Amino acid sequence: MKTFYQELQKHHWHDQIASIQKKNEKDVRRALDAEYRGLEEFKALISPAAEPFLEEMAQRSMELTRKRFGRTIQLYIPLYLSNFCTNSCIYCGFSCSNTVERKVLSIEEVDLEVAAIKKMGYDHILLVSGEAPGQVNSVYFEEVLARIRNDFSQLAMEVQPLEQHEYEQLIDCGLSFVCIYQETYNQHNYGSYHPQGPKADFRYRLETPDRLGRARIHKIGLACLLGLEDWRTDSLFTAMHLDYLEKMYWRTRFSVSLPRLRPHDGQFRPRHVVGDRSMVQLICAWRLFSPEVEISISTRESSRFRDNILRLGVTSFSAGSSTKPGGYANPGDELQQFSVDDNRSPKEIADMIRQRGYEPVWKDWDKNIHPPITR
Ligand code: SF4
Repeated sequence: MKTFYQELQKHHWHDQIASIQKKNEKDVRRALDAEYRGLEEFKALISPAAEPFLEEMAQRSMELTRKRFGRTIQLYIPLYLSNFCTNSCIYCGFSCSNTVERKVLSIEEVDLEVAAIKKMGYDHILLVSGEAPGQVNSVYFEEVLARIRNDFSQLAMEVQPLEQHEYEQLIDCGLSFVCIYQETYNQHNYGSYHPQGPKADFRYRLETPDRLGRARIHKIGLACLLGLEDWRTDSLFTAMHLDYLEKMYWRTRFSVSLPRLRPHDGQFRPRHVVGDRSMVQLICAWRLFSPEVEISISTRESSRFRDNILRLGVTSFSAGSSTKPGGYANPGDELQQFSVDDNRSPKEIADMIRQRGYEPVWKDWDKNIHPPITR
């Protein structure tokens, strides 16, 4: 069965770096003036040659975003179900090589978290866990989804990759959105960041969006972890992945997240630090490449940065996030999966959004507008 893995084998990492670096001012001008922008235009817009055009890119990105999404920013919150993990990703606080207290929420504890999250105003939720099939697996996810499906308009998950039939069962329990981040598309170096556990299997992870598409999921979220490898090249491969998926699974919606590793994230020091101007360039390039794709920025970013880029092309922000299982009902010291920089409450972030003339939105989509895809 065809998957993105076969597509990826046609492109060599170093050839793509060279091809991005070769883009010049004329290529950027052509990309900006194009009616339809494909992967060649995306390359031009993320290239160093586009840096002097940042102002114009920002203006066009803002206009396109307003046209498609209005003046809205969707807010979302992760509910950490478990911090058990059998992987040892070298950039993550939940790595199995770290000695920390581990916990899986019981159904009663999930109820307490849901009550605390509902009080904040949310009508959709992102369920998150580490990858430990012995503790959390599709049977547990089914139980949680069935328990909370009447509490929220939409249910999303960011957990370990699953099989197509497992996704189908979870979709039947109300799941509509799955985030699965490849972290890096550099197959050669992938193993050095993911030395052990099931996540070390690059291909199985890469083919997860194909399994989701075949299961007819409503929405798929993609990302690379910016800073592991050259951000331009990894973003280009993410764009290739999106382009492929949009053609293969045309009834599914897509989002991209732009998680940025920064020097102060725990012990891990990224080799490729991504500066603020590069982040702005990337947000605008994504919007110009895909007017439809949702763009998400998490609380990893500072409040100053998030306030400044709010109008540029993003469509969703996380707010009030706790990475501790049980952390909303029982706040306190927590082991961080990654460092959170914007610590404002959902209300404070919603107020900031309103002050900038935008509307905070507390749910993803409405079943009356987008009925589930039939199998
Ligand atoms: S990034 Fe995810 S899979 Fe990797 S160690 Fe952290 S929780 Fe586990």
